[in-house]
Amino acid sequence: MRKKILITPRSFGKSSNLPFEMLKKYDYEIIKNESGQPYEESQLIDLIKDVDGIIVGLDKITSNVLRNAKKLKVITKYGVGVDNIDVDEAERMGIKITYTPDANKESVADLVFALMLGLSREIIKLDNIVRNNRWEKIIGNEIYKKTIGIIGTGAIGRCVAKRATGFDMKILAYDKYPNYEFANSIGMKYVDKKALLEESDFITLHLPLTEETYHFIDEEELEIMKDTAYIINTSRGGIINENALYNALKNKKIAGAALDVFEIEPPIDSKLLKLDNIILTPHCGASTKDATDRMGIMAVEGLISVLEG
Ligand code: NAD
Repeated sequence: MRKKILITPRSFGKSSNLPFEMLKKYDYEIIKNESGQPYEESQLIDLIKDVDGIIVGLDKITSNVLRNAKKLKVITKYGVGVDNIDVDEAERMGIKITYTPDANKESVADLVFALMLGLSREIIKLDNIVRNNRWEKIIGNEIYKKTIGIIGTGAIGRCVAKRATGFDMKILAYDKYPNYEFANSIGMKYVDKKALLEESDFITLHLPLTEETYHFIDEEELEIMKDTAYIINTSRGGIINENALYNALKNKKIAGAALDVFEIEPPIDSKLLKLDNIILTPHCGASTKDATDRMGIMAVEGLISVLEG
């Protein structure tokens, strides 16, 4: 009997056909979500009943969904953050989980710098000025030789650090498990959380979302930051308390923020949308041709290694 595969990320196989070519060899029956929106829980409960493997994006693979999976052997995360998957339940059921480490780290690090430069030079406002037939300049800030504070020095945090050396930035870092060898190799200095918050001009978050990191940046942390500092979050929404961030931005306790990720996505009713000292992007850190090619290939390799291994 043909094995059945469910593929939920819309960008899977879009920039290169290679992932589909790789799957073709195994004659799987493939169901692909083309809607552009993650599946609802009820849709997944229905779809997952007879699938053998799933390549999943941001759709929530809850315990409810998993309990309806009668044949599922592998969940392959198209990306790195597995916080949308009930990993404990999957493990209890003997379902393997694979993911695509390193495939999108360079793309996310690029976006961090796009956002940092966008904030410091107020690119969005300048674009609007010209579109509205005005010819006004805004005095921005350089990022050259400023202090960057990197919270989480895993795969993405380290790519950000490497880019920061190109701007001659002073690089501070905080991580539960410091990587001193890497830090020494590029002149990055580990400090405690308070010192990083106090001293940084740009703070960028690269933590996984866990019970420990939920609201890692809250009112108290925003209060410690300089009023000229910017914060950038391309990791997961729950890591910043959005309500506290809104107040800090509204009251000019900090200079600005950029978010690629939100507590609720999309953030349709968020009050953050009303502020002009924030740049918002739609969870697109990994949305480059380069990263989607790599993620597609690695996801298929992970899936096949379990189903055919
Ligand atoms: P990683 O696992 O390589 O690094 C995470 C780092 O966080 C590790 O060094 C770890 O020691 C540290 N850490 C974990 N818990 C901590 C804690 N409580 N206190 C201090 N440090 C802690 O992950 P990564 O690949 O660098 O990804 C980082 C984040 O980026 C993840 O949340 C991931 O979901 C997110 N991400 C977002 C996008 C996007 O499109 N915006 C794309 C890829 C990844």
